[in-house]
Amino acid sequence: MKRFLSIIFASIVFFSFYSALAQEGNRLRVRIYSESNNISEATIASSFGSYQLNENSIKRQDKINLSVSNGKILLKLNDQEQGSFDTVRFTSTDLKCFFQVAPTNNKARRYDNDLEITLTKDKKSLKFINVVLEDNYIAGVVQSEAGGASNSVEFFKVQAICCRNYMKRNLHKHEKDGYNLCDCVNCQVYFSRANKEQVVEGAAKSTGEVIVDKNDKIIETLFHSNSGGQTVDAKDVWGNDISYLKPVEDSFSVGQPNYTWEKEISEKEWLNYFKGKGLDVKDYNTKQELLNFSQTEGRKAKIFDIPLTQIRKDFKLKSTYFTVVPWGSNVKLKGKGYGHGVGMSQEGAAKMCEEGYEYWQVIEHYFKDVKIKKQ
Ligand SMILES: [Zn+2]
Repeated sequence: MKRFLSIIFASIVFFSFYSALAQEGNRLRVRIYSESNNISEATIASSFGSYQLNENSIKRQDKINLSVSNGKILLKLNDQEQGSFDTVRFTSTDLKCFFQVAPTNNKARRYDNDLEITLTKDKKSLKFINVVLEDNYIAGVVQSEAGGASNSVEFFKVQAICCRNYMKRNLHKHEKDGYNLCDCVNCQVYFSRANKEQVVEGAAKSTGEVIVDKNDKIIETLFHSNSGGQTVDAKDVWGNDISYLKPVEDSFSVGQPNYTWEKEISEKEWLNYFKGKGLDVKDYNTKQELLNFSQTEGRKAKIFDIPLTQIRKDFKLKSTYFTVVPWGSNVKLKGKGYGHGVGMSQEGAAKMCEEGYEYWQVIEHYFKDVKIKKQ
C-alpha cells in the first residue's frame, strides 16, 4: 500500500512538473533597440506583476537605473548604488508579467516576460535582450507590422502563422551574437508587446502552427501590401523557382486602398532611360512599344529584355504592374498594387477574412500546394 501511494505521489509530482513545463512554452532571445548602439543610460520598471532584479525581489514602485560606467553596468535602486555588473537580469515571477524599458535617448517601450541587460562589444552601450515566450513575441511582431490593418482575429491568425514561419526559419540568424532575432526590419519589426485584443487572440489561437510545402519544409512566407489583382512568380523577381510562390488571380486585392497608383514621367526621360539600356529608341516599333507598353491582359516580367523589377527600382515605382499611356509631353504609368507582389497580399488577406474566409483558406489561396501543420 505504501509503495502504491508513493507511485501515485511520484506521478502527481511528475505530471505537475510536466504541465508547468508545457505551460511555459518555448522562449526566445530577441535583441530590442538593436539599431541603437549609443544607449548609455536607461530605467526599467515592472508595468504588471512582480519582478526580481538579479535574484532580489523588488517592489512595483522601485526606481531602477542602469548606466554604463568603466566598462560595467552601474546599477542603482531608488538612487542607491547596488554595484557594477556585466549582466543585469530583470526576471518575471509569472507568465503574465510585463515591463517598461526607457533609454534616456530613446522612446520607452513595453515588452512581455524577462529582460537581460549586458554591454555591447565596445562596452559603450547597454544591450537589451528580451527573453520572451514565442507567442508573446509573435503577437508583438504582428501588432508592430500589421496591427492597424484589420480588426479580424482570423486575419491576425494568418499574420501570426506567417511570422511564426519566419521565426522558425531564422532562429539561428544572430546566434553568434548571443540571441535568436533582432527587432528591426532585418528580422521582423518588434517595437512593443501586443495590447490589441484581436492580435493576442490570433497568436494564441494559432499557437504552434506553421505552413509547410509539399516536402514538409517550413516555407518562406513572403508578403506585400497589394497584389494589384494578380500575384507574381518569385522567379520573375529573384530568379529562383519556388513551388509555393506562383502567380495567382487575386480579386480580393481589387479596390483596396493600395490597389492603384499613377506616375507621370517626361517622355524624354522615359525614352532616354531605355536608350541608356542599349535600345534603339528612334526605331518606330521600339518607340511605340515603349510608349504603349501594356499589362492590361495580365502581368509581364520584362519590357524587351529589361526586367520590370529593375525599372521599378530605378523609377521608384510602387509595383511592376503598370501600363504606359502617352500623356502630352509625358507618359503616364497607370499602376496596380503595392510591393513586390510575391506571396500573400496583406490587403487581399484582410478582405478575405472580412468576407468570412477562414485563415487556412487565405493561406491556401496565396501559397500553392502547402498545408498547415501543428508542431
Ligand atoms: Zn536581425
